[in-house]
Amino acid sequence: MTARQVVVIGGGLAGVTAAIGLREAGFDVTLLEARPRLGGAASSFARGDLTIDNGQHVFLRCCTSYQELLARLGVSDLVTMQERFDVTVLSPHGRARLRRTALPGPLHMGRALTGYRLLPLAERLKVARAALALRSLDPADPAIDGVPLGAWLASKGQSERARRVLWDLFIVSALNIRGDEASLALSATVIQMALLGKKDAADIGVAAAPLGDLHGRAAADLLGTLGAQIRLATKAAAVERLPGGGFRIGLTGSGTGQQDADGAWPAADGPALLADGVVLAVPPGQAARLAGAAGLEGAGRWADLGASPIVNVHVVYDRQVTSLPFAAAVDSPVQWVFDKTRPAGLAAGQYLAVSLSAADTYVDIPAASLRQQFLPALERIFPAAAGARVTDFFVTRERRATFRQAPGIGALRPGTATAVPGFVLAGAWTDTGWPDTMEGAVRSGQRAAEELTRWLASQPAPSGAGRPEAATARTGAPS
Ligand SMILES: Cc1cc2nc3c(=O)[nH]c(=O)nc-3n(C[C@H](O)[C@H](O)[C@H](O)COP(=O)(O)OP(=O)(O)OC[C@H]3O[C@@H](n4cnc5c(N)ncnc54)[C@H](O)[C@@H]3O)c2cc1C
Repeated sequence: MTARQVVVIGGGLAGVTAAIGLREAGFDVTLLEARPRLGGAASSFARGDLTIDNGQHVFLRCCTSYQELLARLGVSDLVTMQERFDVTVLSPHGRARLRRTALPGPLHMGRALTGYRLLPLAERLKVARAALALRSLDPADPAIDGVPLGAWLASKGQSERARRVLWDLFIVSALNIRGDEASLALSATVIQMALLGKKDAADIGVAAAPLGDLHGRAAADLLGTLGAQIRLATKAAAVERLPGGGFRIGLTGSGTGQQDADGAWPAADGPALLADGVVLAVPPGQAARLAGAAGLEGAGRWADLGASPIVNVHVVYDRQVTSLPFAAAVDSPVQWVFDKTRPAGLAAGQYLAVSLSAADTYVDIPAASLRQQFLPALERIFPAAAGARVTDFFVTRERRATFRQAPGIGALRPGTATAVPGFVLAGAWTDTGWPDTMEGAVRSGQRAAEELTRWLASQPAPSGAGRPEAATARTGAPS
């Protein structure tokens, strides 16, 4: 029997997950990726002898689907997970340690909060009361979707200081938006799931290898082994519904995988692909265009999800300046800082990456100015840095790192299935119930594979006549 043809557009974590699921369900899968590598927003590049991540990524123990993907890719040993949630918070005025106990959630965070000396004691108790109030919210309630976190916290007695030195620590990095401007619904999701959920839910995991190895290379290996077609540096330019059923996907792509001087992927018309089903796993702006052209009404609204930047400031020292694997900072422009020495492959000295979320005010600042600001800031939290020589300094900027996780955003996130049969959506921006994260991306890919599998199974078996030709046959790619 001829297997059904499925095209997955977009090779980020969502598309990769969908492609694996669909191939395992027995479909002929072609995965299209505009860039010359898989992995999407979580990737790496070479800088001299080092391998640099485009931006620091962390995950929590409650990110179960992401960890399932890592296991399926055979790379679970390339991440490290702390045994117990433990965050050192640095400030020019001292430091605090937020460490969970072995008590069941939410009691496991009690001691960390009451001992958080960067906030006056009376304020810590108020934080506990607000956290319990947040715990009782229903994130799916449309009434809270439109409420900004800052206003809600203020109404619960949370001072400016409490919002900046405690709530922002987790919300700004989790939602990539200024804490006061964050969606209350998504904030409640994060706090309930991670900090007030099961006791081990917030234990932090980081990659011990470059993200490119963890996601891109491992995904290409597995999909190749499973027999999926991967077409890199190939962009879907249009998706068209065919009158007799199925889809025609128009392609552009040079096949060289080289960006032009403006950072765009060069286009050259290529042969079209035909498919019985399509997973659209690209960011919301591109998805709106492709789905709109495929006749999906209302897709234009997805562009309203907007974008929020993340900037990483990378500093290589000639010696070790901290023994912490990572730390958060308050009363400092540094938000979170990570020791990247080992994952990047640095043989001597120490490589720190400062991760700046909600980086609207940094994204257009020249590297020289950021250097002037961040080297002294790092010296204030790591005094040993004052005696160290900086051997390299550079900045990575992801202007559209996530969608803007602001009030009202829940109503804009579409589900997996669409009004077009056989045409499903995936991506961390779709309605996963999660913020724009690797976990959300993987969950969306799993759902997309399930939805398309279910729909294709409900269709009459292909007769061979009048159905779309094999995608591979039209392109001449090996099967
Ligand atoms: C700097 C940074 C830091 C982050 N930190 C964290 C973190 O700490 N923890 C966390 O969980 N998440 C983090 N995220 C978010 C996380 O990376 C994303 O949520 C996730 O990777 C999104 O995956 P995706 O598959 O939905 O989308 P993407 O990764 O955006 O994948 C979409 C893919 O589609 C491709 N594409 C676009 N148009 C076309 C087309 N027409 N044809 C073919 N291909 C196309 C793109 O090239 C891209 O590869 C961070 C993101 C960034 C940028």
